[in-house]
Amino acid sequence: MKITDLKCTVFGQNPVVRIVTDEGISGYAEVEASKHYLKPHILFYKPFILGEDPTNVERVMLKIRRLGSFKPWGSAVSAIEMALWDIAGKAAGLPVYKLLGGKVRDRVRVYNGAVRFEMSGYAPQDYAENMARMKAAREGFSIIKQGIGFHSSMPAQFPNFSYGEAREGGFHANRGLLTERGLKYVIACVEAMKEVLGDEVGLALDCGPGWTVPDAIRLAKALEPLNVMWLEDLLTGDYVPYVSAGVYREVTRSTSTPIHTGEQIYLRQNFMELIEQQAVNIIGPDPCDVGGIAELKWIAEYADLHGILVAPHGTGDGLIGLAALVQMSAALPQNYIAFEYPVGRPAWWYDIVRGLPDPIVVDSFIEVWDRPGMGVEFDERAASKYLPEGDGDFFD
Ligand SMILES: [Mg+2]
Repeated sequence: MKITDLKCTVFGQNPVVRIVTDEGISGYAEVEASKHYLKPHILFYKPFILGEDPTNVERVMLKIRRLGSFKPWGSAVSAIEMALWDIAGKAAGLPVYKLLGGKVRDRVRVYNGAVRFEMSGYAPQDYAENMARMKAAREGFSIIKQGIGFHSSMPAQFPNFSYGEAREGGFHANRGLLTERGLKYVIACVEAMKEVLGDEVGLALDCGPGWTVPDAIRLAKALEPLNVMWLEDLLTGDYVPYVSAGVYREVTRSTSTPIHTGEQIYLRQNFMELIEQQAVNIIGPDPCDVGGIAELKWIAEYADLHGILVAPHGTGDGLIGLAALVQMSAALPQNYIAFEYPVGRPAWWYDIVRGLPDPIVVDSFIEVWDRPGMGVEFDERAASKYLPEGDGDFFD
């Protein structure tokens, strides 16, 4: 089998990759919704993979893996990796999890990072009300993540939140030491959310980046009695192109609250220090950023050897990304907690992808399916309606 084409289009906001072969089998993968601009970057890799046998996934990846980088520049390589696994599975007549070593679990736990309801305000009671709506969501989530601190509107909404300058939107540009009132406000909001969840549903908190080490430690210690699931990306994260393992270690060693990072990190090499120094308790690589599903599995196995847990990121990965997350998570080791459940946006995504269960999530779990490859397909007729101008030949 040979790769004859690499195509890319953008459905809604999500770039979608199609690898075409000379045997009538195509592989698909999807990139985060926030990266609609990546199409030219994805197509850059085409000449490197043409003519290769797509079922030798690693051999193809050796040609392009070094040509990627931290978020968002690891997405193209990651998507190509996942599309190759889709082809390899279809060619073998096996679900991708079998090619990754087989199932460790029949159903995979997911956590809520994408099923959202509009905030009515930013006082602690507003956070509590919003959390109550997420707790009542039909997916029955056993873990819910909420943004706080610099990963939220708190710096802009709360007067004198920090000693830095508060900026709205963009790529979480806020940084700085918090005022005492700012820190107390964050803690009050977390307490209000915990009040709603009790010990029935776990609360995870996406926090930054941008916290200083002393504030990070103060927050983590103050929240110790609340038993939150984790504090994510306090210091780095999102579009921060470095790791800072030593600084994370200082925070992690100071508290019993689990510390989490890793969604922006590309490749196993860049997880080495975090894992070997036991700088965090939980890592959260995204298969659509880290270099793909086999790359993430390798990192999860290495983390497991060091007593570190894994909760893969995935909020923007869409429905094809969801399928990859399910196949991969079925095969992750026992340090797996849950992956971040992505939703299809706009809602017509659910009309153009076939093969997902209905409902997808039951009691916070997704049953792992057994169809070949990633086990989902585009309904080409339905999907063609949403192809952008100039991409009318995407399915040809
Ligand atoms: Mg995050």
